Amino acid sequence: MAPGLRGGLRLSGEPNRTGRFAPSPTGTLHLGNLRTALLAWLYARAQGAPFLLRVEDLDAGRVRPHFETEQLGDLRAIGLDWDGEVVRQSERLDRYAAALAQLDAGGALYPCWCTRAEIREASSAPHGPLTEGHYPGTCRRLTAAQRADREASGRPPALRVDAGAARVAFADRLHGPQEGVVDDFVVRRNDGAFAYNLAVVVDDGAQAVGEVVRGDDLLDSTPRQLWLAQRLGLPAPSFAHVPLVLGGDGARLAKRHGAVTLGDRLELGETGDAVRARLAASVGLADPAERPSAADLVARFDPATFAPPPSGPLPGE
Ligand code: GLU
Repeated sequence: MAPGLRGGLRLSGEPNRTGRFAPSPTGTLHLGNLRTALLAWLYARAQGAPFLLRVEDLDAGRVRPHFETEQLGDLRAIGLDWDGEVVRQSERLDRYAAALAQLDAGGALYPCWCTRAEIREASSAPHGPLTEGHYPGTCRRLTAAQRADREASGRPPALRVDAGAARVAFADRLHGPQEGVVDDFVVRRNDGAFAYNLAVVVDDGAQAVGEVVRGDDLLDSTPRQLWLAQRLGLPAPSFAHVPLVLGGDGARLAKRHGAVTLGDRLELGETGDAVRARLAASVGLADPAERPSAADLVARFDPATFAPPPSGPLPGE
C-alpha cells in the first residue's frame, strides 16, 4: 500500500469509521476550520478509528506551501494528531486522470465551454426548477455545428459529468435525511485542474475514509459526490456536516472579525489548549470555565448523541 494510504483493517461487519481532515493550503485556518478539524478528529478517535490528514492543493493559483506548514502546526497546537503520512492531492494526479478515463469510458463526460456569465444567465431563465449554482446543461445539448464552432474557438473546455438530473438521498448524522438533484458538475476545469468534487471522491475512496466530517457549507455538494462515488464503484462514506463559526455579524468568519486565527489568539496570550477548550465549549462539549485535555474530549464525545448548536458566532464574541 502506498505510504499514507490506509485500508481499514476491520473485522467484517464492523463499520468503517476512518476519518480525515482535508484543508486547502490557500490561507490560514480560522477558528471555524479548527473547530471542524477538532470535531472530525473526535468522531474518529472516540470510535477508535484512524484519522488521516489530506492536503487539498490542486488549485495551483491559490495554493501557497507555507500555509500547509502553518495549518499542520496549528492542528498540532490544539492537540490533534493523525495516522500515516500527510497525503497531498498534487502528488496524486494520475489517480484523478484514471477516474476521468473511467467516467469517459462509461460515456459520462462532456466538454463545456460556458463562461460563468453564460451559466448565470441561463440559470435565471424560466425553464424549470434549477437550484442556484446548478449547471443548466447548455453544452450537453449542443448541435454538431455549435460544438464545432466552440471547438474551433480554441478556448479550452471544462469537462462535466452527464448526471441525468439523478436524485440522490442520504442521511447526514446531524442534518438527518437529505435529498438532492445532481447537476452536470465540473470534474476538470478549463485550465486543466482536476475539480474538488472529483478529487475528494477519488481520495476518500482510495484512503478508505468511512466517515466524512466537514463544514455544513458542503452539505449541498454531497449528492454530487455520492453520485460520483457510485459511478466509480466506490463505497459511500457516512457524513456529518458540522456547523460553521460565523462572525458577530452572521457572515462567514474572516479577518475583519478580529482575532480569528490561532496565531491571533496566541498573540493575545491564549494557549492552544485554551483555544481547544473554547472550541469544545462552543459546541456543548465542555463548560466555558473548563480546560479539558484532548483525551478528556475523546472520552466524553459520543457520535450518536452529539448535537451541536446551529452555525453562529463563538460565545463571548
Ligand atoms: N478542502 C476542502 C475545504 O477546505 C474540504 C473538503 C472536504 O472536507 O470534503 O473546504
